[in-house]
Amino acid sequence: MQQVRRATPVSDSQISYRWALDAAGRPIPIDQATRGGQYVCPLCHGPMIARLGQQLQHHYGHERLTDCTPETVNRAVLRRWLAIHIEQALKAQTPVTLRWQCPYCDQKHHANLLHGVARFTEDEEINGHYADIALFDARDRLFGAILIEDKLTPAQEDFFTAGDRFLLTLPHMATLDEDDLLAILRQAQVISAPCPLLANMPDVIRDPAGIKKVLLEAVSRFPGYAFGALETINGVANLVKLAGKLLLLPKAQWRKVVGGSRNPVIPGVEIIIQTWQHPDGGDLYLYFVTARETQAVGIRRYSPGAMHTPELDFRSYHRNTSAADIVRQLVTR
Ligand SMILES: [Zn+2]
Ligand SMILES: [Zn+2]
Repeated sequence: MQQVRRATPVSDSQISYRWALDAAGRPIPIDQATRGGQYVCPLCHGPMIARLGQQLQHHYGHERLTDCTPETVNRAVLRRWLAIHIEQALKAQTPVTLRWQCPYCDQKHHANLLHGVARFTEDEEINGHYADIALFDARDRLFGAILIEDKLTPAQEDFFTAGDRFLLTLPHMATLDEDDLLAILRQAQVISAPCPLLANMPDVIRDPAGIKKVLLEAVSRFPGYAFGALETINGVANLVKLAGKLLLLPKAQWRKVVGGSRNPVIPGVEIIIQTWQHPDGGDLYLYFVTARETQAVGIRRYSPGAMHTPELDFRSYHRNTSAADIVRQLVTR
């Protein structure tokens, strides 16, 4: 168990900060601070003093005792700085062109992060989820978010990536050495971004709840099982047809939505097996099979009380046995 460490107040002689806000609320790095200037902490809004002496490295210090850590102050400065620059870019209609490797189709895309953005918020909670910066479109729908977090919780990731949204994370200690929004955003990780190829395939289901629903639908009728190979359609990889629906189901998403334990079977073949209880009784067996270059998923429902053990006949496998062959064997026997 991780211990919760409460920050104890420290005197500013122990901690030095590289940033403070000036009277106008603009982040000022210590090397631009002036002696006797008025500065406040971006976090506690308490007064800060620029210490520009000969002995120590120049730094800001709180006038009063505080529990602001350099990390939280840095985060608050980054947030303020982003807000100021996003506001400027929106006003001047300067494009903020991001380039990223698409997690859906694995191709490189680029787009203006602020295209279609009508307003943004800073330091706000949206439906119970905190965002350092949240972008909204003209219909006031959440369009994207920037989180100054080194690691996201699964709930945060689900919320901010649902739909076709930009989700960027910036490390706490990202640096502001250049006065340039794009230079800072290059330090960000693009967790999610709208894929132009998927935008042309509006029927593809990719949210966890939608995927679960289709999996249950797929076994709710005769013959009580379904399977499909992962395919590339119109340039989008990891698509699978189940119960007449098209799902986006890369292995990482299957792990998240379905889970299960990994079973390395023979070299080059891995089967992830999960069992669920069917809401109407009985057991569900779910499989994600990787066989060399191919992948497939399958699901089978067993009625309550039925004896079942997944059977695999390894002797029948050969070099060309595909994941779909294996999963078919698993769900139909
Ligand atoms: Zn403070
Ligand atoms: Zn894409």
